Amino acid sequence: MSAVARTTSSRAASTAPRARAIARSTRCVVARAATELCHVDARVIVFSCHSYEKTTLEAALPDSTFISARLQLDTVPLARDHDAVCVFVDDDVGTDVVDALADAGVKLILLRCAGFDNVDVDRANARGVTVCRVPAYDPLSIAEHAVGMMLSLNRRLGPSRDRLRVGNYTLDGLVGQSLKGKTIGIVGTGKIGRAVAKICKNGFQMEVLGYDLFDKEAFCGEFCSSIEDVLARSDFVSVHVPLTDGTRGMFNAESLAKMKTGAMLINTSRGALVDARACIDALYSGQLGALAMDVYEKEKELFFRDFSALDIRSRMLVWDENIAILSNLPQVLITPHSAFLTHEALAEIASTTAENLRAYCAAEPLANRVSSTPPRR
Ligand code: NAD
Repeated sequence: MSAVARTTSSRAASTAPRARAIARSTRCVVARAATELCHVDARVIVFSCHSYEKTTLEAALPDSTFISARLQLDTVPLARDHDAVCVFVDDDVGTDVVDALADAGVKLILLRCAGFDNVDVDRANARGVTVCRVPAYDPLSIAEHAVGMMLSLNRRLGPSRDRLRVGNYTLDGLVGQSLKGKTIGIVGTGKIGRAVAKICKNGFQMEVLGYDLFDKEAFCGEFCSSIEDVLARSDFVSVHVPLTDGTRGMFNAESLAKMKTGAMLINTSRGALVDARACIDALYSGQLGALAMDVYEKEKELFFRDFSALDIRSRMLVWDENIAILSNLPQVLITPHSAFLTHEALAEIASTTAENLRAYCAAEPLANRVSSTPPRR
């Protein structure tokens, strides 16, 4: 891929003045990164591109093709005549798709996210396709969302809002608990887990417990040697491990039973870490007091789409019983994989993706290369 100069375009976006100001400043950063770094002649197709990110990505990856379609086997033909595909968390980059991309001449997969559980990296390596990711994008953004969900559920903000809308100004059933002195257990004390721990300790004076299979570095709370210890002692449990064969279903009927009765579970990591049906049973029995989830095990079929205008027959074809039950429980709060959704994180995603592309085209060492499919842990 030879080097050619590119210019960047910018567009007005966003609504509120503050949001417009932040968007302007982040776009400038990205635009600078793009003109300084992304002088490449790679043909990139960006899958699953949504309006919230389009302007930022257009500035970082000028002259790329942007489409809203998700990458899956039947959309691979759209990648023909491109050197690289740029994808997000719910794109399908499994074995068949990797093979089809390689057959179509794609050489590079640019993930716009940290997790790579949706990619068969070993197959990509075997087919000569390089995979790069964005290992971190403003971990505080995700941590703040996790804490926001915890606060909202604890103080019943959702039910309070619902009541006010219909003219009900009563307080019965809305009693929460003060967080000072309560215990939060952090499962996975990496970048995001540590950020949640600091907010809870320094902001709310909570007791903080941590569990991590690998990372044993200094932590602002008490490190526990077993996850059982964390589950048994925590009033709130926040999950921040990646999805691997070893973490899939980590929160199932058995582990939920080991939690303190009435504790709250917060999952902003990956949906398949938590067994949704087991959570419903535990919520019904009261073993689980509340559930916050930004991710869902079957989100691939649901999230980032709008089904509200479908006729009933079509709607029933995509109906998901577990999420329908969970969405209607007052002690559950669901957000549609939006924990990362800040201007700051979007800017970091775009600039790191542009840098990954530039480094690949310049045949430089790839700091953010993913070299193997996550091992069983
Ligand atoms: P990180 O790599 O910094 O931390 C993950 C931690 O989990 C590491 O310390 C690792 O040692 C630990 N771990 C791995 N396997 C474990 C196991 N079996 N038991 C206990 N600990 C284990 O990652 P991060 O930046 O903190 O991100 C965590 C996860 O958050 C990502 O993997 C991703 O799935 C998710 N994420 C979600 C969003 C969102 O918008 N909802 C955004 C970014 C990341």
